[in-house]
Amino acid sequence: MADPDGPLKLSAEPLLSAAAIQERIEELAAQINADYAGAEEIVLLVVLKGAVVFAADLGRRLTMPLRWEFVRAKSYQGAQSTGHVDYRRITDPELQGRHVLVVEDILDTGRTTQKLRSRLEEENPASVALCTLLDKPGQRLVPAAAEYVGFTIGPKFVVGYGLDHDERYRELPAVYTLVG
Ligand code: 5GP
Ligand code: MG
Repeated sequence: MADPDGPLKLSAEPLLSAAAIQERIEELAAQINADYAGAEEIVLLVVLKGAVVFAADLGRRLTMPLRWEFVRAKSYQGAQSTGHVDYRRITDPELQGRHVLVVEDILDTGRTTQKLRSRLEEENPASVALCTLLDKPGQRLVPAAAEYVGFTIGPKFVVGYGLDHDERYRELPAVYTLVG
């Protein structure tokens, strides 16, 4: 079957180097640690699969006790947003009365975040905040925002550091754009 995206390859230089990502995560963690100082425990709700690498690095720099939970949200096929968000709980967290910190890879159209937030609010958590590694504010189709943003980037499709293109490239330590 022909690949609708054509032959895509990684940009020669990363958009975000591994060092720049780690440095920024250090700053985000400091901010989160300050904001949640005194919190007994927070639920780190990792959105699979893209946020798993980011969450592993971020979570290890947080100082409050964490409960790690996972949900699956999927809206892309190849490099195209399908508009339909497939959402599934992977673990079964008790969220009522808890502080929930959602960890996302990237905020794009906002659909995933909007849907996830409304689902989470139904469970009456004490608070919900979103930490996303990347934000593409120019791409929003529905209103959505994150309390913590690693990097604000342009509209180009990116891979690496957890982000895939048809399940490839998640293991790269830096973030690259795909070029045709
Ligand atoms: P949204 O629902 O905000 O449109 O999309 C969020 C999801 O779309 C992300 O969690 C991610 O899986 C996917 N996505 C959006 N932009 C990109 C991108 O540039 N690269 C990759 N690999 N995935 C993206
Ligand atoms: Mg994806």
